[in-house]
Amino acid sequence: VEADNGNEPTRETRRVLTCDLLVHSAAQVLTLAGGPQRGRELGRLGIIADGAVAVSNGRVAWTGTTAEARTGVRASAEINAAGRVVMPGLVDPHTHAVWAGDRAAEFELRLAGKSYMEIMAAGGGIMSTVRQTRAASLDQLVDETRPRLQRMLAHGSTTIEIKTGYGLETASELRMLDAIARLNAEGPWSLVPTFLGAHAVPEEFSRRQDAFVDLVVEEMLPAAWQHAGGAPGGLFCDVFCEDGAFTVAQSRRVLERARELGFGLKIHADEFVGLGGTALAVELGAASADHLVYTPEADIVALGQSETVAVGLPGTPFGLGQTDYTPAGRILDCGGLLALASDLNPGTTWCESMQMVIALACRNMRLTPAQAIAASTINAARAVGRDREVGSLEPGKRADLLLLDAPDYRHLGYRYGGNLVATVIKDGVVLQMQP
Ligand SMILES: [Zn+2]
Repeated sequence: VEADNGNEPTRETRRVLTCDLLVHSAAQVLTLAGGPQRGRELGRLGIIADGAVAVSNGRVAWTGTTAEARTGVRASAEINAAGRVVMPGLVDPHTHAVWAGDRAAEFELRLAGKSYMEIMAAGGGIMSTVRQTRAASLDQLVDETRPRLQRMLAHGSTTIEIKTGYGLETASELRMLDAIARLNAEGPWSLVPTFLGAHAVPEEFSRRQDAFVDLVVEEMLPAAWQHAGGAPGGLFCDVFCEDGAFTVAQSRRVLERARELGFGLKIHADEFVGLGGTALAVELGAASADHLVYTPEADIVALGQSETVAVGLPGTPFGLGQTDYTPAGRILDCGGLLALASDLNPGTTWCESMQMVIALACRNMRLTPAQAIAASTINAARAVGRDREVGSLEPGKRADLLLLDAPDYRHLGYRYGGNLVATVIKDGVVLQMQP
């Protein structure tokens, strides 16, 4: 960014911002400025009517009205966004986007009445994807995942967290980290890696759960940290704390060791049973606690007084045909930081669109469109520790912008099943998306 004096002779010296790209004439620019939004302040969009965004060197240089841009900004390229909403790229802070194969047959079993946990106990569920993922080469994992990321990006997700957890043995878990790293290097998306070695107890450790936790703590965690812990943006560790997966005590062992090594912390908690995983996340200072469908009231209160982000995943109960959702109203009343994510995975919710997640959150978590948008941008960025880089349109942040084919932000949530994203700009580059 450089400021110079206008070339045209003027009586007064006026500072003009010179930039690479000016997006102007937007019906609404949503800046989401001011940092993560706690409790009932969620939904502060920072709307600029007839708005403009200036981009320089891949970063946001300025936001304001189109009238201000006309006199104060000179750009080498312009985009007329008339009739469109311009907003930050969506952040999807909880996905299992790397896997091999699919579980379409299980979907049919569930429709016939089998529960997710029954299928898991019979060797299906996560273990079925583990067998297919272990058998896949790095190239195959990358090639199966790439089109999913392309569709997520086309639907507006510019920053995406991805977990391991379909390897459940050291070499396969490291291969998943390699797949995430390779896809991140390919871009244009920004990927956030999370190690989830304690996703399920693999069949070779059945009835030897603690021995598997030993393996995670003593071998996998140090290996994962050595392998990827120095990656830009760091590395998270997650654990599936649930009946049929890992107890609170086992989850504590994993997360405490991870914290010692330098990982950021996350947890899958209270998806089917309120075990106490959320309280553990708060105690350990985790970046986020995710799912939170059956969270005990006392844990919601504790969460509301913490820096741990509550991540609601409304695609999951929807995908399972269930009726209970994350109690967003209680979380907000208690002052909590609420975010949304897709939980994209081949078992419970193969949903690649955060627009669909927003629509589900409006209906089933009773969020307003404004709340759901803030939960999917700045607060979602906070859940992956990237809120200083992405999630809002403020000077210095990555120029990750969406142009929506809609004149008002409330079309997000209101309309569903399609794609409102007309243009994606990632790091200041206007992307050509496949139809
Ligand atoms: Zn998950």
